[in-house]
Amino acid sequence: MNELVLNSESLNNVLDDKEILLDDAMQIYQNALNDPNELFLAAQKLRTKFKKNTVTFSKKVFLNLVNLCRDSCSYCTYKSEPDDSKLSLMSKSQVKSLLELAKKYRCVEALFVTGEAPEQKYKEARNWLKENGFGSTAEYLIHVSEMAIEKGLFPHTNAGNLEVSDMRELKKTNVSMGLMLENISERLTEKGMPHHLASSKRPKTRIEILENSGRLKIPMTTGILVGIGETPEEIIHSIFAIKNIHKKYGNIQEVILQNFQPKPDTRMSNFPSANEEYFKVIVALSRIIMPEMNIQIPPNLSPKSYHSFLTVGINDWGGISPLTPDYVNPEFTWPEINKIKENSKKAGFNLKCRFPAYPEFFSFITKELRDKMAVIENEEGLVKEGYWR
Ligand code: SF4
Repeated sequence: MNELVLNSESLNNVLDDKEILLDDAMQIYQNALNDPNELFLAAQKLRTKFKKNTVTFSKKVFLNLVNLCRDSCSYCTYKSEPDDSKLSLMSKSQVKSLLELAKKYRCVEALFVTGEAPEQKYKEARNWLKENGFGSTAEYLIHVSEMAIEKGLFPHTNAGNLEVSDMRELKKTNVSMGLMLENISERLTEKGMPHHLASSKRPKTRIEILENSGRLKIPMTTGILVGIGETPEEIIHSIFAIKNIHKKYGNIQEVILQNFQPKPDTRMSNFPSANEEYFKVIVALSRIIMPEMNIQIPPNLSPKSYHSFLTVGINDWGGISPLTPDYVNPEFTWPEINKIKENSKKAGFNLKCRFPAYPEFFSFITKELRDKMAVIENEEGLVKEGYWR
């Protein structure tokens, strides 16, 4: 059988609800290098089958809580040193003020972001936490998450690898949490590679945390960085690794596919941005491998062409903030929500605002949190349009 026939047969099998095998996904990737249209069409059909013509986003405020980090990824511009002008150590009163402002802007999500265990490396972080009455960054996250709930916002914490006991405590206030797998390849942790100086990015550690979130029944956002020096095989293996966790625990609520963009002040400043055609093929392949998954690309990282990804399988734009920057990609401002709505509409899709947890995962969330969500929730399990617009 020639390769193109195999391609059509494998894609038809997926459209007939049969799971795709790793080797077939590799072959489809190879064929897509010559002509990706068959793959794109199959991804679009699956997207329509499972997600209809809706595209979602989460209206958020980004709380850059502590940007010191014990690790050093070669592409990261988020991390600060204690003497940098971009250092962020948000006090309780700063958190309170920003939450109040976010409520006025009718944000729904309070995204809390920190570097990896800052207190393990920096005495500045240890002292600052102690002065504020906390023994660890996780303790502070638990406190500010409670503050967010009191103000009527719904926390989503993205703070690297957390202990099971801290995740269990955060589940009481966080409707979901996030941890990027980034890539399953150990090779990317070797000398000269992006994760060499980042022990928290060891694939085994990341998988363990994602599995812990499954045991705790926490709706989990994860994802992959595309274009950081991985091979196509490594990225396909990474998508299958996420799929396998979800098959085992049913807790992966969405997969972010984030295209690499070099940052001037980093060790990868001269590395090229992810190639857009390659990125699209990876997005479409993700839909083929995980037909029912929520798949997201950040629109600010493809500012001119983000709406074209609607035709290769995505169904979510992620968190968009009307009032705070994307501190992870500060040079890329988020498009205005109205503009995203307009561009989505032109492409044939209705923009709707979701909670930081997708409706399919509401059974994981405590009754106390569900009761609070109900105040602004519509019959689809999304945020009432009258609230967010
Ligand atoms: S990407 Fe995350 S873990 Fe890596 S250096 Fe930046 S803040 Fe730290």
